[in-house]
Amino acid sequence: MLMHILLLLIVPKLWAQELDIGIMRDYQLGTIEISYHTGNYEIYGDTTLVTNLWQGQSILFKRVGTQIKVVKLDKTIGSYDSVTVKEMSENSCLKIQCLAPTSKKTRRYRNDFILTPENDTEIKVINRVEMSNYLGGVIESEGGGGKHLEYYKVQAILSRTYVLGHLGKHKKEGFQLCDQVHCQAYHNMLIYTPTIAEAVDATRGIVMLKQDLNLAEGFFFANCGGQTSEADFVWNEIVPHCKRVLDTFCTRSSQATWTKEIDAVEWRDYLFKEFGYPINDSILGPLIYNFSQPTREAFYKYPQLGIPLRDIRTHFRLKSTWFSCKKVGDVVILSGKGFGHGVGVCQEGAMGMAIHGFTADQILNFYFTNIRLMDYYSWSFYQQREFIKEELERASL
Ligand SMILES: [Zn+2]
Ligand SMILES: [Zn+2]
Repeated sequence: MLMHILLLLIVPKLWAQELDIGIMRDYQLGTIEISYHTGNYEIYGDTTLVTNLWQGQSILFKRVGTQIKVVKLDKTIGSYDSVTVKEMSENSCLKIQCLAPTSKKTRRYRNDFILTPENDTEIKVINRVEMSNYLGGVIESEGGGGKHLEYYKVQAILSRTYVLGHLGKHKKEGFQLCDQVHCQAYHNMLIYTPTIAEAVDATRGIVMLKQDLNLAEGFFFANCGGQTSEADFVWNEIVPHCKRVLDTFCTRSSQATWTKEIDAVEWRDYLFKEFGYPINDSILGPLIYNFSQPTREAFYKYPQLGIPLRDIRTHFRLKSTWFSCKKVGDVVILSGKGFGHGVGVCQEGAMGMAIHGFTADQILNFYFTNIRLMDYYSWSFYQQREFIKEELERASL
């Protein structure tokens, strides 16, 4: 009985989970304009209702001194320590634009907003958003529209798993996740693509777990060129659920291959100065420009030389580490495959699989090893039950 009561108290509110997302983090917001898009809003200065936002209207929020000044139709409403913009009808949406510093870009977000002063001159904007709206916004920001439903389901599961595994990432700043690629890009509201909403809804609550039943890291990238990469080639760390797979679903895409020319002197100098390539060795020296990589490798030429391909990729801004090269005249010609780090889900391959009739479950099990999909709340219920059982056993000792 006691355990049941404890569980009722501890298990989170099931479906209507709200998230606090720090938005427009790429601006130092001094003045913002919030305009009507859909639905109606109430504006609270501290805890008092001070005005509304109706169709066709917009309101300015300016950082002045230690407070935020609210201005509507050129009339100052007041200055407050915090401002809450609260939706009055479900799934309302606002347009937000930064006026100081000036930006022409407008972003649309749903649900509620909390504005507080940040640093000496800025405004911090938190979007208090329902999980489903947030996930839709992330998928739309990161992948755009026009993709297959099963592909969007893959993105929804990966994105949800990420969120639930990183809720404390910006705790010090007073929100849970930011809207930048540091967390997940979230620059658009789910407005234009009904298929994304359908995918988020159809996978409601589903997360991806590793073999040890912890939340799995859902890495992805644009195109593998025909073969994904072992994680330790990229990050010096073995990730057991990310193993190399052969992928024929992405190889016809324009991003599957690339070429790049680099000045031969620059190539030689880089390899010599950074890694001590033996340019005077009678055998290895002349071969500095020649490299063949039929399958993905971690190092240039020989591991003993200690030249990680990921360093070469970063230095020369290459699309991938999977390339071969040779010298022609004064240049080194690189012929490469794929776009991105290569670990986890190949997005274009996943799109190809979806078009060929594979389900999201099959796609994730193709790119990841020994994973399982599970309802998050069943999983956290199970985790908590185990925890409480241990606590009760300890208490009765
Ligand atoms: Zn972040
Ligand atoms: Zn691929």
